[in-house]
Amino acid sequence: MRPLQAEIRLDALRDNYRLARQLAGGRTLAVVKANAYGHGVVRCARALDGEADGFAVACIEEALELRAAGIVAPILLLEGVFEPDEYSLCAELGLWCVVQSDIQLAMLETSPVASLPSVWLKMDSGMHRAGFAPDDYAAAWQRLAGSGKALEIVKMSHFARADEPDQVMTQAQIETFDAACRALPGAASLANSAGLMVHPSARREWSRAGIMLYGVNPLPQGMGPALKPVMRLTSRIFAVREIAAGEPLGYGHNFVATRRTRVGLVACGYADGYPRLASTGSPVAIDGVRSRVIGRVSMDMLTVDLTDLPAAGLGSEVELWGGAINVNEVAACAGTIAYELLCNVKRARFV
Ligand SMILES: *Cc1c(COP(=O)(O)O)cnc(C)c1O
Repeated sequence: MRPLQAEIRLDALRDNYRLARQLAGGRTLAVVKANAYGHGVVRCARALDGEADGFAVACIEEALELRAAGIVAPILLLEGVFEPDEYSLCAELGLWCVVQSDIQLAMLETSPVASLPSVWLKMDSGMHRAGFAPDDYAAAWQRLAGSGKALEIVKMSHFARADEPDQVMTQAQIETFDAACRALPGAASLANSAGLMVHPSARREWSRAGIMLYGVNPLPQGMGPALKPVMRLTSRIFAVREIAAGEPLGYGHNFVATRRTRVGLVACGYADGYPRLASTGSPVAIDGVRSRVIGRVSMDMLTVDLTDLPAAGLGSEVELWGGAINVNEVAACAGTIAYELLCNVKRARFV
Protein backbone atom coordinates (compact mmCIF):
# COMPACT_ATOMS: atom_id res chain seq x y z
CA MET A 1 0.00 0.00 0.00
CA ARG A 2 1.16 3.53 -0.69
CA PRO A 3 2.71 4.72 2.56
CA LEU A 4 1.21 8.23 2.75
CA GLN A 5 -0.47 8.49 6.11
CA ALA A 6 -2.28 11.22 8.06
CA GLU A 7 -2.18 10.32 11.70
CA ILE A 8 -4.99 12.16 13.51
CA ARG A 9 -4.51 12.58 17.24
CA LEU A 10 -7.95 12.95 18.70
CA ASP A 11 -6.61 13.44 22.24
CA ALA A 12 -4.75 16.52 21.01
CA LEU A 13 -7.95 17.77 19.36
CA ARG A 14 -9.82 17.44 22.65
CA ASP A 15 -7.02 19.15 24.59
CA ASN A 16 -6.95 22.04 22.12
CA TYR A 17 -10.72 22.39 22.34
CA ARG A 18 -10.54 22.53 26.14
CA LEU A 19 -7.90 25.23 25.90
CA ALA A 20 -10.05 27.24 23.47
CA ARG A 21 -13.02 26.97 25.79
CA GLN A 22 -10.92 28.02 28.76
CA LEU A 23 -9.62 31.06 26.84
CA ALA A 24 -13.15 31.89 25.75
CA GLY A 25 -14.53 31.66 29.25
CA GLY A 26 -17.82 30.68 27.66
CA ARG A 27 -19.48 28.43 25.18
CA THR A 28 -17.39 27.64 22.12
CA LEU A 29 -18.37 26.20 18.77
CA ALA A 30 -15.87 23.77 17.31
CA VAL A 31 -15.47 24.86 13.69
CA VAL A 32 -15.33 21.71 11.55
CA LYS A 33 -16.02 23.13 8.08
CA ALA A 34 -14.03 21.83 5.08
CA ASN A 35 -13.92 18.27 6.43
CA ALA A 36 -12.62 19.57 9.77
CA TYR A 37 -9.84 21.50 8.04
CA GLY A 38 -8.87 18.30 6.23
CA HIS A 39 -8.77 16.13 9.37
CA GLY A 40 -11.91 14.07 8.71
CA VAL A 41 -15.09 15.68 9.96
CA VAL A 42 -16.94 12.65 11.28
CA ARG A 43 -14.13 11.31 13.39
CA CYS A 44 -13.30 14.80 14.72
CA ALA A 45 -16.91 15.60 15.57
CA ARG A 46 -17.34 12.24 17.28
CA ALA A 47 -14.19 12.88 19.31
CA LEU A 48 -15.64 16.20 20.51
CA ASP A 49 -19.23 15.03 20.87
CA GLY A 50 -20.46 15.41 24.41
CA GLU A 51 -17.72 17.96 25.04
CA ALA A 52 -18.15 20.69 22.42
CA ASP A 53 -21.01 23.12 22.97
CA GLY A 54 -21.76 22.79 19.28
CA PHE A 55 -20.20 22.65 15.84
CA ALA A 56 -19.91 25.11 12.97
CA VAL A 57 -19.78 24.19 9.29
CA ALA A 58 -19.97 26.24 6.11
CA CYS A 59 -23.12 24.86 4.57
CA ILE A 60 -26.02 22.47 4.95
CA GLU A 61 -24.32 19.63 3.04
CA GLU A 62 -21.67 19.51 5.74
CA ALA A 63 -24.28 19.61 8.50
CA LEU A 64 -26.22 16.74 6.91
CA GLU A 65 -23.09 14.61 6.96
CA LEU A 66 -22.75 15.21 10.70
CA ARG A 67 -26.41 14.50 11.46
CA ALA A 68 -26.18 11.31 9.36
CA ALA A 69 -23.20 10.29 11.50
CA GLY A 70 -25.32 10.63 14.62
CA ILE A 71 -24.09 14.00 15.87
CA VAL A 72 -26.98 15.56 17.81
CA ALA A 73 -25.20 18.67 19.16
CA PRO A 74 -26.11 22.10 17.74
CA ILE A 75 -24.60 22.78 14.31
CA LEU A 76 -24.32 26.32 12.92
CA LEU A 77 -24.25 27.03 9.17
CA LEU A 78 -21.67 29.81 8.88
CA GLU A 79 -22.62 30.84 5.34
CA GLY A 80 -26.33 30.46 5.93
CA VAL A 81 -28.56 28.98 3.24
CA PHE A 82 -28.44 29.29 -0.54
CA GLU A 83 -32.02 28.29 -1.33
CA PRO A 84 -35.25 28.83 0.62
CA ASP A 85 -35.97 25.07 0.95
CA GLU A 86 -32.91 24.69 3.13
CA TYR A 87 -34.69 26.49 5.96
CA SER A 88 -37.21 23.66 6.19
CA LEU A 89 -34.37 21.17 6.50
CA CYS A 90 -32.75 23.40 9.15
CA ALA A 91 -35.96 23.39 11.16
CA GLU A 92 -36.37 19.63 10.79
CA LEU A 93 -32.79 18.85 11.83
CA GLY A 94 -32.49 21.57 14.46
CA LEU A 95 -29.69 23.37 12.62
CA TRP A 96 -28.64 26.86 13.57
CA CYS A 97 -28.30 29.33 10.77
CA VAL A 98 -26.34 32.50 10.02
CA VAL A 99 -28.32 35.20 8.24
CA GLN A 100 -25.87 37.59 6.65
CA SER A 101 -27.73 39.32 3.84
CA ASP A 102 -31.01 40.86 2.91
CA ILE A 103 -31.68 37.95 0.56
CA GLN A 104 -31.24 35.35 3.28
CA LEU A 105 -33.43 37.36 5.64
CA ALA A 106 -36.17 37.76 3.04
CA MET A 107 -36.07 34.02 2.26
CA LEU A 108 -36.56 33.27 5.94
CA GLU A 109 -39.40 35.77 6.33
CA THR A 110 -41.33 34.17 3.48
CA SER A 111 -40.36 30.59 4.29
CA PRO A 112 -43.08 28.20 5.45
CA VAL A 113 -41.04 27.09 8.49
CA ALA A 114 -42.59 27.93 11.82
CA SER A 115 -39.27 28.84 13.41
CA LEU A 116 -35.58 28.02 13.60
CA PRO A 117 -34.01 27.26 16.97
CA SER A 118 -31.24 29.86 16.67
CA VAL A 119 -30.43 32.46 14.03
CA TRP A 120 -27.05 34.21 14.09
CA LEU A 121 -27.51 37.63 12.54
CA LYS A 122 -24.21 38.76 11.07
CA MET A 123 -22.92 42.31 11.09
CA ASP A 124 -20.23 43.61 8.76
CA SER A 125 -18.19 45.42 11.41
CA GLY A 126 -15.29 46.11 9.03
CA MET A 127 -14.35 43.04 7.03
CA HIS A 128 -16.65 44.12 4.19
CA ARG A 129 -17.26 40.59 3.03
CA ALA A 130 -20.60 39.53 4.49
CA GLY A 131 -23.15 40.81 6.96
CA PHE A 132 -25.42 43.80 7.49
CA ALA A 133 -23.83 47.22 7.70
CA PRO A 134 -23.73 48.61 11.25
CA ASP A 135 -26.27 51.31 10.34
CA ASP A 136 -28.72 48.70 9.01
CA TYR A 137 -28.17 46.14 11.72
CA ALA A 138 -30.78 47.15 14.27
CA ALA A 139 -33.46 47.29 11.56
CA ALA A 140 -32.48 43.81 10.33
CA TRP A 141 -32.62 42.54 13.90
CA GLN A 142 -36.11 44.05 14.37
CA ARG A 143 -37.28 42.51 11.11
CA LEU A 144 -36.00 39.09 12.15
CA ALA A 145 -37.48 39.38 15.65
CA GLY A 146 -40.77 40.60 14.19
CA SER A 147 -40.96 37.68 11.77
CA GLY A 148 -41.20 35.22 14.63
CA LYS A 149 -38.98 32.85 12.66
CA ALA A 150 -36.17 32.75 15.22
CA LEU A 151 -36.60 31.33 18.72
CA GLU A 152 -33.26 32.97 19.56
CA ILE A 153 -31.18 35.65 17.83
CA VAL A 154 -27.40 35.68 18.37
CA LYS A 155 -25.56 38.80 17.27
CA MET A 156 -22.36 37.97 15.46
CA SER A 157 -19.49 39.43 13.49
CA HIS A 158 -16.15 38.23 12.13
CA PHE A 159 -12.65 39.76 12.25
CA ALA A 160 -10.54 40.64 9.23
CA ARG A 161 -7.15 40.94 10.92
CA ALA A 162 -7.25 39.20 14.31
CA ASP A 163 -4.08 37.23 13.46
CA GLU A 164 -2.06 40.46 13.45
CA PRO A 165 -1.58 41.21 17.13
CA ASP A 166 -0.61 44.87 16.63
CA GLN A 167 -3.56 45.65 14.41
CA VAL A 168 -5.92 48.28 15.79
CA MET A 169 -8.57 47.13 13.31
CA THR A 170 -9.82 44.34 15.56
CA GLN A 171 -10.50 46.69 18.46
CA ALA A 172 -12.21 49.06 16.03
CA GLN A 173 -14.44 46.22 14.82
CA ILE A 174 -15.36 45.33 18.41
CA GLU A 175 -16.31 48.96 19.13
CA THR A 176 -18.34 49.22 15.93
CA PHE A 177 -20.16 46.02 16.82
CA ASP A 178 -20.91 47.10 20.38
CA ALA A 179 -22.15 50.51 19.30
CA ALA A 180 -24.50 49.07 16.69
CA CYS A 181 -25.84 46.42 19.11
CA ARG A 182 -26.26 48.66 22.11
CA ALA A 183 -30.04 48.49 22.28
CA LEU A 184 -30.35 44.85 21.19
CA PRO A 185 -30.74 42.05 23.73
CA GLY A 186 -29.29 38.55 23.57
CA ALA A 187 -26.03 36.68 23.25
CA ALA A 188 -23.18 37.62 20.90
CA SER A 189 -20.29 35.92 19.12
CA LEU A 190 -17.16 37.58 17.76
CA ALA A 191 -13.95 35.64 18.22
CA ASN A 192 -12.27 33.11 15.96
CA SER A 193 -9.05 31.43 17.18
CA ALA A 194 -6.82 34.47 16.78
CA GLY A 195 -9.46 36.73 18.32
CA LEU A 196 -9.59 34.47 21.38
CA MET A 197 -5.83 34.53 21.77
CA VAL A 198 -5.19 38.24 21.30
CA HIS A 199 -8.35 40.15 22.23
CA PRO A 200 -9.93 39.44 25.61
CA SER A 201 -12.53 42.11 24.83
CA ALA A 202 -13.79 39.92 21.95
CA ARG A 203 -14.93 37.20 24.35
CA ARG A 204 -18.70 36.98 24.39
CA GLU A 205 -21.28 34.32 25.20
CA TRP A 206 -20.13 32.30 22.18
CA SER A 207 -16.76 31.86 20.49
CA ARG A 208 -15.95 30.07 17.25
CA ALA A 209 -12.63 28.22 17.37
CA GLY A 210 -11.27 26.65 14.19
CA ILE A 211 -7.59 26.44 13.37
CA MET A 212 -6.45 26.28 17.01
CA LEU A 213 -8.42 23.05 17.53
CA TYR A 214 -6.12 21.43 15.01
CA GLY A 215 -3.06 22.57 16.93
CA VAL A 216 -2.03 25.30 14.54
CA ASN A 217 -1.23 28.73 15.85
CA PRO A 218 -2.53 31.52 13.60
CA LEU A 219 -0.34 34.18 15.23
CA PRO A 220 3.21 35.16 14.24
CA GLN A 221 5.84 32.69 15.39
CA GLY A 222 6.48 32.62 19.11
CA MET A 223 3.13 34.12 20.08
CA GLY A 224 0.01 32.50 21.44
CA PRO A 225 -0.58 29.47 23.68
CA ALA A 226 1.03 26.06 23.30
CA LEU A 227 -1.16 23.88 21.10
CA LYS A 228 -0.86 20.22 20.17
CA PRO A 229 -0.69 19.40 16.46
CA VAL A 230 -3.49 17.03 15.50
CA MET A 231 -2.42 15.86 12.04
CA ARG A 232 0.96 14.25 11.46
CA LEU A 233 1.47 13.69 7.74
CA THR A 234 4.12 11.13 6.85
CA SER A 235 5.23 9.00 3.98
CA ARG A 236 8.27 6.87 3.12
CA ILE A 237 11.23 6.85 0.77
CA PHE A 238 10.64 4.32 -1.99
CA ALA A 239 13.72 4.86 -4.15
CA VAL A 240 17.20 6.34 -3.68
CA ARG A 241 19.72 7.54 -6.24
CA GLU A 242 22.82 9.68 -6.44
CA ILE A 243 23.41 12.53 -8.82
CA ALA A 244 26.74 14.16 -9.54
CA ALA A 245 27.61 17.79 -8.98
CA GLY A 246 26.18 19.78 -11.86
CA GLU A 247 23.34 17.35 -12.60
CA PRO A 248 19.81 18.70 -12.59
CA LEU A 249 16.82 17.05 -10.91
CA GLY A 250 13.12 16.78 -11.67
CA TYR A 251 10.66 18.80 -13.75
CA GLY A 252 12.05 21.94 -15.28
CA HIS A 253 15.49 20.94 -13.99
CA ASN A 254 14.98 23.72 -11.53
CA PHE A 255 17.33 22.16 -8.95
CA VAL A 256 20.95 21.59 -9.94
CA ALA A 257 23.24 19.69 -7.53
CA THR A 258 26.19 21.72 -6.29
CA ARG A 259 27.84 18.57 -4.90
CA ARG A 260 27.38 14.81 -5.18
CA THR A 261 23.80 14.49 -3.87
CA ARG A 262 21.88 11.52 -2.53
CA VAL A 263 18.24 11.88 -3.49
CA GLY A 264 15.31 10.13 -1.80
CA LEU A 265 12.02 9.70 -3.66
CA VAL A 266 8.96 10.15 -1.42
CA ALA A 267 5.40 9.01 -2.06
CA CYS A 268 3.65 12.36 -1.63
CA GLY A 269 2.90 15.07 -4.18
CA TYR A 270 0.60 17.91 -4.97
CA ALA A 271 -2.30 15.58 -5.77
CA ASP A 272 -2.08 14.56 -2.11
CA GLY A 273 -2.20 18.18 -0.99
CA TYR A 274 1.49 18.86 -0.56
CA PRO A 275 1.95 22.35 -2.00
CA ARG A 276 3.76 22.42 -5.33
CA LEU A 277 5.03 25.91 -4.53
CA ALA A 278 6.97 24.49 -1.57
CA SER A 279 9.73 23.12 -3.75
CA THR A 280 13.49 23.25 -3.05
CA GLY A 281 14.07 24.28 0.56
CA SER A 282 10.84 23.24 2.20
CA PRO A 283 11.60 21.36 5.46
CA VAL A 284 10.96 17.64 6.03
CA ALA A 285 12.06 15.31 8.84
CA ILE A 286 13.60 12.01 7.75
CA ASP A 287 13.61 9.44 10.52
CA GLY A 288 13.27 12.44 12.81
CA VAL A 289 16.18 14.45 11.34
CA ARG A 290 15.52 17.67 9.47
CA SER A 291 16.35 17.88 5.79
CA ARG A 292 14.68 19.54 2.82
CA VAL A 293 12.76 19.04 -0.37
CA ILE A 294 14.93 19.43 -3.47
CA GLY A 295 13.58 20.00 -6.96
CA ARG A 296 9.97 20.57 -7.91
CA VAL A 297 7.15 18.75 -6.18
CA SER A 298 5.46 16.38 -8.69
CA MET A 299 1.87 15.17 -8.72
CA ASP A 300 2.46 11.95 -6.78
CA MET A 301 6.00 12.27 -5.47
CA LEU A 302 8.65 14.63 -4.28
CA THR A 303 12.40 14.40 -3.83
CA VAL A 304 14.39 15.04 -0.66
CA ASP A 305 18.06 15.57 0.13
CA LEU A 306 19.67 12.58 1.89
CA THR A 307 23.28 13.65 1.35
CA ASP A 308 23.94 14.41 5.02
CA LEU A 309 21.79 11.54 6.31
CA PRO A 310 23.84 8.40 5.57
CA ALA A 311 21.60 6.22 7.76
CA ALA A 312 18.47 7.19 5.83
CA GLY A 313 17.40 5.20 2.81
CA LEU A 314 14.76 2.94 1.36
CA GLY A 315 11.78 2.76 3.72
CA SER A 316 12.83 5.71 5.89
CA GLU A 317 9.93 7.68 7.30
CA VAL A 318 9.52 11.19 5.92
CA GLU A 319 7.44 13.59 7.98
CA LEU A 320 5.88 16.34 5.91
CA TRP A 321 4.43 18.12 8.95
CA GLY A 322 2.86 17.68 12.36
CA GLY A 323 5.77 16.70 14.63
CA ALA A 324 9.32 17.94 14.09
CA ILE A 325 8.02 20.07 11.21
CA ASN A 326 5.48 22.79 11.95
CA VAL A 327 2.92 23.07 9.17
CA ASN A 328 3.29 26.86 9.40
CA GLU A 329 6.90 26.50 8.17
CA VAL A 330 5.82 24.58 5.09
CA ALA A 331 3.02 27.07 4.44
CA ALA A 332 5.51 29.92 4.58
CA CYS A 333 7.71 28.14 2.01
CA ALA A 334 4.68 27.86 -0.28
CA GLY A 335 3.56 31.48 0.22
CA THR A 336 0.30 30.40 1.85
CA ILE A 337 -1.24 29.61 5.24
CA ALA A 338 -1.51 26.34 7.13
CA TYR A 339 -5.31 26.39 6.74
CA GLU A 340 -4.95 25.79 3.00
CA LEU A 341 -2.41 22.98 3.34
CA LEU A 342 -4.52 21.10 5.88
CA CYS A 343 -7.77 21.45 3.90
CA ASN A 344 -6.02 20.04 0.85
CA VAL A 345 -4.85 16.78 2.38
CA LYS A 346 -6.28 14.00 0.23
CA ARG A 347 -5.57 10.38 -0.62
CA ALA A 348 -3.70 9.80 2.64
CA ARG A 349 -4.59 6.85 4.80
CA PHE A 350 -6.18 8.37 7.91
CA VAL A 351 -5.17 6.54 11.06
C1 LIG B 1 -13.82 29.63 9.66
C2 LIG B 1 -14.50 30.58 10.58
C3 LIG B 1 -14.12 30.64 11.94
C4 LIG B 1 -12.92 29.89 12.49
O1 LIG B 1 -11.76 30.64 12.22
P1 LIG B 1 -10.31 30.16 12.74
O2 LIG B 1 -9.41 31.25 12.31
O3 LIG B 1 -10.02 28.88 12.03
O4 LIG B 1 -10.41 29.99 14.20
C5 LIG B 1 -14.86 31.44 12.77
N1 LIG B 1 -15.92 32.17 12.30
C6 LIG B 1 -16.27 32.15 11.01
C7 LIG B 1 -17.43 32.99 10.57
C8 LIG B 1 -15.58 31.36 10.12
O5 LIG B 1 -15.94 31.36 8.82
